[in-house]
Amino acid sequence: MSADILIINGRLFPESGSSDLVDNGFVAIRNGLIVDVGPMTDMTGYETGNLIDARDTLVMPGLINSHCHAAMTLFRGLADDLELAAWLNDHVFPAEARHVSPEMVYWCSKLAAAEMLLSGTTTVADGYFFEDKAARAFCESGLRSVAAHGVIDFPAPGVPDPSRNIEAAARYIGAWRNRDPLVTPAVFAHSPYTCSTETLKKAKMLAEENELLFFVHVAESQIEQSMIRDPWGETPVKHLDALGVLDERTVCVHCVWVDEEDLDILAGRNARVSICPQSHLKLASGYAPLSGMLDRSVKVGLGTDGAASNNGLDLFREMDMCAKLQKVRSLDPVAVKARDVLRMATKAGASVLGFDNRSGAIRKGYLADLVLVDLKKSNLQPFYSPDNLVYAAGGADVRDVIVDGKIVVREGHPLTIDLDETLFQVRKIANHLA
Ligand SMILES: [Zn+2]
Repeated sequence: MSADILIINGRLFPESGSSDLVDNGFVAIRNGLIVDVGPMTDMTGYETGNLIDARDTLVMPGLINSHCHAAMTLFRGLADDLELAAWLNDHVFPAEARHVSPEMVYWCSKLAAAEMLLSGTTTVADGYFFEDKAARAFCESGLRSVAAHGVIDFPAPGVPDPSRNIEAAARYIGAWRNRDPLVTPAVFAHSPYTCSTETLKKAKMLAEENELLFFVHVAESQIEQSMIRDPWGETPVKHLDALGVLDERTVCVHCVWVDEEDLDILAGRNARVSICPQSHLKLASGYAPLSGMLDRSVKVGLGTDGAASNNGLDLFREMDMCAKLQKVRSLDPVAVKARDVLRMATKAGASVLGFDNRSGAIRKGYLADLVLVDLKKSNLQPFYSPDNLVYAAGGADVRDVIVDGKIVVREGHPLTIDLDETLFQVRKIANHLA
């Protein structure tokens, strides 16, 4: 038998939810898929031109970032310590109006792709303007993406006339459908307070016609509650439900200010959720009622949001913060466990993004999206259980990354991204902004 890549002698963590580690295991990869996995004693006769000795590493599924605005790396640290409304209206929206260009989105998304791949993220769900440039940056970088075209009822970069926002999204979908196996296009309506009911319905319809995901920020802040309640007398979730846009292909991002009825609606509609704990903390939005979601079997993924409100894109940090935030929220140290957030960042995240039973675990037939974590790092010893990945590891502990059966990071260095050129281009754009 032949394998494009054969990983040997690694400690395997095949799947969250199971605490079973395989002490000395192998993974065989062919044509972008995992074709075999197990203990070394079961490995028989593989030929390969690409052998990775994974001694002293933990081989785990690649992490899945279920919500990001990659190009916002340009705004990292530009406006910190502000409340959401002031941050958005006085800083982010004006900076975007002046500085978001196709070139900016391309280079700043490439910078984000480098940061994510180097810290073990193998799939990202992105939503922004000029999303075709982001999609190009992701696929050139070898990062798997669900890349969603932004829709908002304001004049936006690339769509100066908001009455044409659905048309622009449709054009983007037409261009990226079935174009590259690494990119799945989608639609991202900014929020119920920046999109009219008509826009929300049309954006969802466009996504449905193409059997694609529909993303929307919802119930992020307390003030959003009153903005939606004033005209419609409903919570943001009930408002979206009344419009008929909640179903299994809708990803509701944030869901911080949701009540018990909202949670029942999300569960009843089988809507997906992505929460972004560090963004919620930094903007003092609050904390999403994660236990209430998990108790109702709502599929919840973990996102970083953009680098302007986080300010990093490292999902290891996000997992740690997510678990601890839920503990302090409920004053219950067993409320949300390490394995719950590991699942959110792998298998559940995959399910949120429509990769059910195809990604988020090291199993035969799954996409070959894997990460090798360096167990020689002092902060990871001793390694009794995968809980260390949540409470002790960081993105800097990632050694090698494989996406779609291709090695994209080796020994901590990106193989698919010219990092010097990317940094040069981003600094040039940042200097202009400054
Ligand atoms: Zn967001």
